[in-house]
This record gives sequence, structure tokens and C-alpha cells, in this order.
Amino acid sequence: MGPGFVAADEWHSGGMVTRVAVVGGGITGLSAAWELVGSRSAAEGPELAVTVLEGSPVVGGKLRLDTVAGSLLDVGAESVLARRPEAMTLIAELGLGDRTVHPAPVSASVISRGRRWPLPKATLMGVPSDLDSVRGLLTDAEVSRLAAEALTPPIHGDVAVGAFVEDRLGAAVTDKLVEPLLAGVYAGHARHLSLEMSVPALHGAAREGRSLLETARAAAAAAADGPAAGTPVFASLRGGLGSLPSVLRSLLADRGAEVLTGRAVRQVRRTSSEYLVTSGPTTEQVERPFDAVVLATPAAPAARLLRGAAPAAAALLATVESASMAIITLALDGPVDALAGSSGFLVPPTEPLTIKASTFSSVKWPWLRERDPDRTFLRASMGRHREEATLQQSDEALVGIALRDLATVVGALPAPVGAHVQRWGGGLPQYAVGHRELVARARAALPPGLVVGGAAYDGVGIPACIGSGRAAARAVLTRLPGHRARLRG
Ligand SMILES: Cc1cc2nc3c(=O)[nH]c(=O)nc-3n(C[C@H](O)[C@H](O)[C@H](O)COP(=O)(O)OP(=O)(O)OC[C@H]3O[C@@H](n4cnc5c(N)ncnc54)[C@H](O)[C@@H]3O)c2cc1C
Repeated sequence: MGPGFVAADEWHSGGMVTRVAVVGGGITGLSAAWELVGSRSAAEGPELAVTVLEGSPVVGGKLRLDTVAGSLLDVGAESVLARRPEAMTLIAELGLGDRTVHPAPVSASVISRGRRWPLPKATLMGVPSDLDSVRGLLTDAEVSRLAAEALTPPIHGDVAVGAFVEDRLGAAVTDKLVEPLLAGVYAGHARHLSLEMSVPALHGAAREGRSLLETARAAAAAAADGPAAGTPVFASLRGGLGSLPSVLRSLLADRGAEVLTGRAVRQVRRTSSEYLVTSGPTTEQVERPFDAVVLATPAAPAARLLRGAAPAAAALLATVESASMAIITLALDGPVDALAGSSGFLVPPTEPLTIKASTFSSVKWPWLRERDPDRTFLRASMGRHREEATLQQSDEALVGIALRDLATVVGALPAPVGAHVQRWGGGLPQYAVGHRELVARARAALPPGLVVGGAAYDGVGIPACIGSGRAAARAVLTRLPGHRARLRG
């Protein structure tokens, strides 16, 4: 336990301690708590008592392991962007650096006109830096249209990614490149998603009326010459990324934070001096006072919880939609030749398949092949924004659809020896046009001592969520007016 930090049971010590509730124990909430317990010192500010309140029985949110054919595997998020600092820094701080792993150097593909084509390298979310890399995947006519970029005047504000790229480079670039890449991140539709939030580099070009192709080329050249050139783009942990939350939970407990699971927060009320947080099952609800609250849940529960304390912010967050999806993990016996040499494929929505992507996990992750050499694991994802009907079927039906689509792409596979369906209802927030402004307005409408962070706000990827959680932790203390003075005085 660091200086300046006290155990949660010392709260009664007469108001000398700042009590912070972190609502939601996904990677955002856990990172917020980690920042709170780790970064304060007596010289810096008040003593803190931190309580994480997680509604489900386990921490981690979308980082989750489960058993498939007797083996523990990721059934949610499986990797982090290693070229952003937040996740790698956290992994190092948790002492997990020696468990860091990277994908095998095999490439993925994209389906077009029923065939697999190499996923073009060095694109800016699908906008190619090299026209030759998209030949075949796009027809000759589509490549010609792309090459003749139709420059448009500078835009003001935000626009939808898909429509903008289509105007500049033709519909095929949106449909066959941008859509599958964006769907992999948001399970959304390029023609609804915000350019400003989802591809900031292209938004910069749009605002200045610059060429998207030249922007993609410049980004590829900068990446090739930059300090990160040649380093792996993605990372994970031996044993699965889903093993990180339990490590974080236990280190938080070692540092005196209270991490409670099965304690869904039902209400956050603001009085003149504190927040009253009601949590727990309906039959055992507990109300506890806190000086500050970090709300690290998805947008819909955040909107419900903010209704009383910040109705204007609640109304804004209630408009953030989300996409539901499912991950179907399959275990096959022995190595499977049909999957060799590829990490998987993406499926544009224009193709007549239900799955939107598949990852050949045992090929992509050498640690998995080493641990379970007699099994081949692969997974398929299903579900796009506003297309929930696909998921309203039994687990068996979803497994059947995944197998049928996989057979269409890679040829017949042996019958699985195990299958697992993980449903992620409302799992991915949709950043509609104007999202950044909506978030700024919602944050501006929050009272002091109440902050929000997580996938709904600053980026859905894990590094962005870690950054968002840590920033929320820092912000919640600075937004407590007079608090430091009171504690010091
Ligand atoms: C299937 C899938 C695969 C993904 N793969 C990747 C990937 O490989 N790499 C990557 O970078 N990103 C990936 N993402 C995105 C990323 O994993 C998530 O955006 C991120 O983990 C969200 O973290 P979070 O803590 O903000 O939210 P969550 O993980 O949703 O955590 C929020 C927590 O709040 C809890 N909660 C909700 N309401 C309440 C309440 N009222 N009281 C108390 N607790 C509550 C929930 O139970 C949950 O544990 C993936 C997302 C999905 C759905």
C-alpha cells in the first residue's frame, strides 16, 4: 500500500479520507481504481479509500476467459494494440511483462466475390496506401475509381465514415475495405459511424480538404520510418488476455482497495455533501456514502444511474446506441491443414455470409498451439448494429451457422469436439456522427466529484479504455472543490 492510501475499513476516520466508488469492474473501472491506489502520495493530496462495485460475479467485463473443450480461452477481447502505450504500460506495471505474447507473422484475408484475398497492409482503416495491394479484392473498375479520388471541399464538424469515403473513393472502398475493418472494431456500419471518432487521421484530411489516398500513404511512410517500425502491432498474454482482470483485482486488494462483485449499482444520489450509492441484489440493497464516483459502465447503465444526479448528461448518454454480438469458439481435434498459414478472415456485409469475421486462434497465437498442440481452436463473430435478429437463435443454431459459413470459406472442417457461444448483448457502443461533441456536452453536465469513463466515451479499444479509466480517476479528484483544502486544513 502506498503512502496516502488507506484501507476501505478506515472510512470512519472522521472525514479525513476521500471515499471513491468505481462503478463497473471492466478494464476501465479496474484501471481507474489502479490509478487511484497507485498514483497518490501523501504529498500529492488526500488519502483515498477506493471501492469497486461490479454487478456481475466476475471482474473484467469484455475481458473474459471460459472453458472450451477443457481449455481456458478468451471468449471476449483477445489482443491489445501494442503501438499505443496504455495497455503495455499497465501490463508492465502489473508485472505481466514476461507473459506478453504477439501474434504469429501470418496474414489475414478479406472475402470478396466469394474468394479470400490478402488483407491489404498499411491501410488507414481500409483506405489503401498502395493501389496494387487492393487489386483483385477490388475489380479493375473499382481500383480505377479509387485512383481518381474526387477531392471534396473541407468539411466542418463530423461526417459518417462510409459516406465520406464513398464520395471520395467510390462505394467499393467503403463496402469491401472500410466496412469489414470497422465492423471488427465496432460491429457497426460505416455509413453511421463518426469519422472524427473512428478514423481521426482521415477526419483531419477531410477538414483540410486533403487527399485521403495521400494521407494513407503519408501514414504508411511514417509508420515504416517511425520508432515503432518492425515492432509487433498487437500483443496479448500467455494464458489469454482474460487473465489480466483477476491479476489486477488481486493487486488492487493487496493495496487496500475493496473490489466487490455481484453488487450491481442501482442508484446514485447526490446530497449537499456526498453521493449515496445503492447497490446489490434487490433483496439485499446497501446504501453507502462516497465523496466521489467514477462511472465506468457502458452508456445505457450510466444513463440510468445518472438520471437523478445529472439528468442532462443522462439524457445525452441514453442516445448512445450499442451493437450486440456473439463469439462462437470451436475446438477441433488435431491440426487442421485448411487453416494453416492464415490468422483468419474478415467478411464485408456485401457477402452472403452471416459471420463477420473468423480468427484461427491456434494459428494466430503460438502460445495456444504450444499449450494445446492436439487441438485447433478458432472463433467466429456474428452480429452487427441493429441486426439483433441474427442472434435471436439458440446456441446450437449459432454454432451451426458458424460451421456452415466456415465451410463455405475454407472448405469442410472436422466435426468440433467442443463449442462455446459467448453472447455480448449491447457489447459495443456505436459512435454516431457528432459523438465527440455529445461526450463533451455530457461530461460538462456532470456535477463535481462524478465522472464517466470507458468504451462509450474515448475509444472502444482496450488501450483507450485504460487511458479513459486512468484519466477519470485523476479527474474525479481534481473536480472535488475545496476537498483538498478541507483535508489538509
Ligand atoms: C466480443 C468483443 C471483442 C473485443 N475484442 C477486443 C480486442 O481484441 N482488443 C481490443 O482492444 N478491444 C476489444 N474489444 C473492445 C473492448 O474489449 C471493450 O471496449 C472494453 O473491454 C470495454 O471496457 P469497459 O471497462 O469500458 O466496459 P466493460 O468491459 O463493458 O465493463 C463494464 C462493467 O460494468 C459492469 N456494470 C454494468 N452496469 C453495472 C452496474 N449498474 N453496477 C455495477 N457494475 C455494472 C459490467 O458488468 C461490466 O463488468 C472487444 C469487445 C467485444 C464485445
